[in-house]
Amino acid sequence: MFHVKQRDYPVRLGQVLDLTVTGYASEGQGVARVEGLAVFVAGAIRGETVRVQIEHLGHTAAYGRILQVLEPSPHRVAPGCPQAGACGGCIFWHMDYEEELYAKARRVTDALNRIGGQSLELVPIVSSPRETGYRNKAQYPVALVHGKATAGFFRPRTHQVLDVGRCRIQGSAADRAKDTVVRWMRDNRVAPYDEKTRQGLVRHIYVRTASVTGQVLVCLVVNGDGIPQEMALVENLLKNVDNLGTVVLSIHKKPGNAVLGDRFRTLYGPGYIEDRLCGLTFRLSPRSFYQVNHDQAQQLYEAAVELAALTGTETAVDLYCGTGTISLVLARKAGRVIGVEIIDQAVADARENARRNGLTNAEFRCADASQAAAQLAAEGIRPDVIVVDPPRKGLDETVIDAMARMAPDRIVYISCDPATLARDAARLNHHGYRLTTAQAFDMFPKCAHVETIVLLQRETL
Ligand code: SAH
Repeated sequence: MFHVKQRDYPVRLGQVLDLTVTGYASEGQGVARVEGLAVFVAGAIRGETVRVQIEHLGHTAAYGRILQVLEPSPHRVAPGCPQAGACGGCIFWHMDYEEELYAKARRVTDALNRIGGQSLELVPIVSSPRETGYRNKAQYPVALVHGKATAGFFRPRTHQVLDVGRCRIQGSAADRAKDTVVRWMRDNRVAPYDEKTRQGLVRHIYVRTASVTGQVLVCLVVNGDGIPQEMALVENLLKNVDNLGTVVLSIHKKPGNAVLGDRFRTLYGPGYIEDRLCGLTFRLSPRSFYQVNHDQAQQLYEAAVELAALTGTETAVDLYCGTGTISLVLARKAGRVIGVEIIDQAVADARENARRNGLTNAEFRCADASQAAAQLAAEGIRPDVIVVDPPRKGLDETVIDAMARMAPDRIVYISCDPATLARDAARLNHHGYRLTTAQAFDMFPKCAHVETIVLLQRETL
């Protein structure tokens, strides 16, 4: 890796250069090289020659802005979203889907090989059944823009709210709910929250739509204990949002970037909505994790079940289980399933979901994964399969050690960050697990994130 003092850089700030793009960085920018130094160029495509101006010198790379695309890639397309580039949400509107899938598969492969010590050919990637309108969850930050309450998404690398209008990767119910809340705020002079002064009321509008049942959950996150004109808000939402299932207030007075607060009050409906996934019914509360791309999640979970290779008698442990989605899909084919999750609302949902689906062989523990895994190992639980689906930071060493003590034949690892997956795969290699299958899933078309599933099998000595 390039590591120099800024004066030794082969490029200068403000310099204009013509560069050929050879690949992609993990956040999707094109990468070109000048005497070994990586230059990251947002909006550039592999194979293109671009004229760039250097606008930032980082520790290990320089950053350039496109002035002109001199030789465009055949994969370059006219962006299908008018906010492309201005909105911090999506980054892949300038290329066709084939090239986006390549960029993501390459990223997963490179991480597994470079960080994880594997030697894989390009990992296959499963395309998303839908490229737009696939998201079932929207979290709109709210701010005062030009003196008016506005909800939208942050501009790239800032906390400035951009009024996005209609978001192309969301379902339309989310935008209708957002617009209704904004109108109610303007009509009733409800102030948006200001991160700097910590004054104002409404922080986020959070909307979740169940893909199969169509039910909509609207959660208003507020810096206070209540809102003015509560019933007017609910009535307006009922008028404008088809299939409104529930409206919830989340009380969130602490500073910081967490979207939801810890206290919830239901203003309308039961406080949760229901969806169907892989033939099962799921209750979803605001704090419970649920994959944002329903149809792709089904394909991912089917892959997980296949890799788990269950015959009906096995014991499976599902760490980081959320509302029990994967646990219950596994439970249909296993003897016993134990799910572990840290958020109590999600565990309550998971237990209720097991009951509703008549699955009596799934049990859930509300605990930190490392403590629960150590406890399961100490209890002498010897699962045939462990499934893990951790947040981006991956697995703690203590989780990996406890998993190794439980000595399952198979570990199915679902990951939303290829770098931490690769690190953990290498650690599991030291415990005698060999990576035998790796597959990427495009869960987030147009966005930088990519999901991966791998199978690690215990070597027989
Ligand atoms: N497998 C589920 C959820 C995956 S998301 C699904 O596919 O729907 C990751 C989950 O891990 C979230 O529900 C999050 O609340 C949970 N989590 C985060 N940190 C945790 C920890 N330290 N211990 C246990 N669960 C944790």
